[in-house]
Amino acid sequence: MSVLNADLHCHSTASDGWLAPADVIRRAHANGVELLALTDHDTLAGLDEAFGTARELGLNLVAGVEISVTHAGDTVHIVGLNVSPSNPVLLAGLASVREGRSERARRIASALEQVGIEGALEGAGRFAHNPEMIGRAHFARHIVARGLQPDVGSVFRHYLAKGKPGYVDHEWARLSDAVSWIRAAGGIAVIAHPARYRRTSLQMDALFDDFVACGGEGVEVVSGSHTSDEVSRFAGYARRYGLLASRASDFHGVNESASDLGGCAPLPAGVEPVWTRFASANRH
Ligand code: AMP
Ligand code: MN
Ligand code: MN
Ligand code: MN
Repeated sequence: MSVLNADLHCHSTASDGWLAPADVIRRAHANGVELLALTDHDTLAGLDEAFGTARELGLNLVAGVEISVTHAGDTVHIVGLNVSPSNPVLLAGLASVREGRSERARRIASALEQVGIEGALEGAGRFAHNPEMIGRAHFARHIVARGLQPDVGSVFRHYLAKGKPGYVDHEWARLSDAVSWIRAAGGIAVIAHPARYRRTSLQMDALFDDFVACGGEGVEVVSGSHTSDEVSRFAGYARRYGLLASRASDFHGVNESASDLGGCAPLPAGVEPVWTRFASANRH
């Protein structure tokens, strides 16, 4: 029996991935991925290049995005799959999310300065290909490059995770807005890596209730960051809430991701794969 090697969440240099969009496509193709979605944070800027290379190699690609959302005081990520990349509602919504990022980056830099890390804004900027897109991953890479921490994971644990000295509060998009932009662009909204949200079971249910109420249709059951217990748990959520199931590496780069492109576990039995809803891929 063959199972489609679909990978519906990954990043390029258009946000905080290490590889250019064309190189993400080449690596996915070399790894045997049969259906890919490029889902950069809050931008569609990598898609043109990605589609060019996908066409050359004959890789099925769908347009995607990962939108930063604030829900019940916490950040959650909503992936939009198979969106139309020229939809004005989606483009305007994403531009509004990006607007807050530069100012947030300045606040992160001053928070880091308070604990003795100077010049972090310039340093992070050297790792970002677009100054509008500076995020915590770029700060983390700078701090590693300066030799202050051994790896990005440990920078997050010491400085950038919620409650740590370099963490600043920020108001991202509303859940209902993010879902409606994705739907306006003809896409399917999917809750990204749900096991990564620190929520009680009641709070998790509230997220799923609200998500379904505003038109969300899918959840990442398999994510590069999910353990097999977490896969089972969110397969249960998919069934209970009638959601489509996605499979996603969340690849950012070779040394920074739990899973390589196409490398995560297959979807478990008893859930409906989200890609059964894609009319056709690579149709950009
Ligand atoms: P931001 O959108 O600026 O808050 O950055 C979020 C990104 O930071 C995520 O998409 C990951 O790329 C990265 N990230 C978040 N938490 C961690 C972590 N614990 N270890 C490594 N990278 C992380
Ligand atoms: Mn990221
Ligand atoms: Mn994410
Ligand atoms: Mn991601």
